[in-house]
Amino acid sequence: MTAMATQSKIPMASESEYYEVRPIPGKGYGCFALKAMKRGTRILAEEPLLVVPIAEYLQSDIQQAFDKLSPEQKDIYFSLHSGHGQDPKLWPSRIHPTVEGKERQRIKEQHDARTGKQPSLISIFQTNCMEWNKGAAVFPNAARFNHCCNPNACFTWNSALGKETIHIMNDVEKDEEITLSYCDMIHDKTLRLWELKHYGFTCDCRACTGDEDDETTFAYHSALRRFRLQELERETRFLRGPKLYEGAVQPDFVRQLLQLAALHQEEGDYTARLASVFLDLALVCEVSGDLKMAEVAAGKAVQVKKDCQGADFPDYKKYVEVLERVKVKLGQQEV
Ligand SMILES: [Zn+2]
Repeated sequence: MTAMATQSKIPMASESEYYEVRPIPGKGYGCFALKAMKRGTRILAEEPLLVVPIAEYLQSDIQQAFDKLSPEQKDIYFSLHSGHGQDPKLWPSRIHPTVEGKERQRIKEQHDARTGKQPSLISIFQTNCMEWNKGAAVFPNAARFNHCCNPNACFTWNSALGKETIHIMNDVEKDEEITLSYCDMIHDKTLRLWELKHYGFTCDCRACTGDEDDETTFAYHSALRRFRLQELERETRFLRGPKLYEGAVQPDFVRQLLQLAALHQEEGDYTARLASVFLDLALVCEVSGDLKMAEVAAGKAVQVKKDCQGADFPDYKKYVEVLERVKVKLGQQEV
């Protein structure tokens, strides 16, 4: 992905009716809205340029994929930002002797790419790759979006479409920069800093630069919310998924799910994670017989899911089925 550093070449983003790539003084490039857009607008659906179908990749895996590209595609790849040139002191310099073979080689290659003097196949891949099925891929247009810890857009790999999609998740004004979060939105500042170090930059968003000890700042409230979100995640993790119906009988469970949903929304985190909290809330309320509440929660789950991933996302149907089932049960109850 594009970090906040100067790029030497002109970006190759294809024409879009939703946004354009513009230079940002001192920061390289960013993607700016060509018009006001609402949550749920799909601004990009892009096929991968280069795919490495395994998670633990070596330089040779990227080379193999790169060799298949056309000369134009190779130019696009090398026009992307690279997070090389980092201070070696920022990274561990030794590898434990028990780490052997391929894993040892992988760590060394990645370290050399980060601290190397020139952009390389790996340094560009590290900086720009996004999750792709069980591996990772580079999407040159999606890679142009800068990071923000409270972004206004979100990205997802849609395997049904075979494309990476980006949706607006918080309404944007014309000329506003459109941003994505490269790290987990509920992580605290220290953890985010560490995650972003891999991309070779330090975030200057208001959650990162504000004073977390000053109650009048956004950073203070954001840090509090993220802390509570992490706590609630830990408290509810084992009662969700396959154990959801065990959770349903816990006295505090519905309240915890409602708090999770409220905090994600306050933080502007309208991603699939919020949709899944609403879905679990709907299922728990359905089981406990509170069908009115189940209907409201399922309705929200469907809306958030559609807004952040689209109605063509593989498991969207599951969300619609829950809403329809609850509606049928409610109808039967009212007869
Ligand atoms: Zn930040």
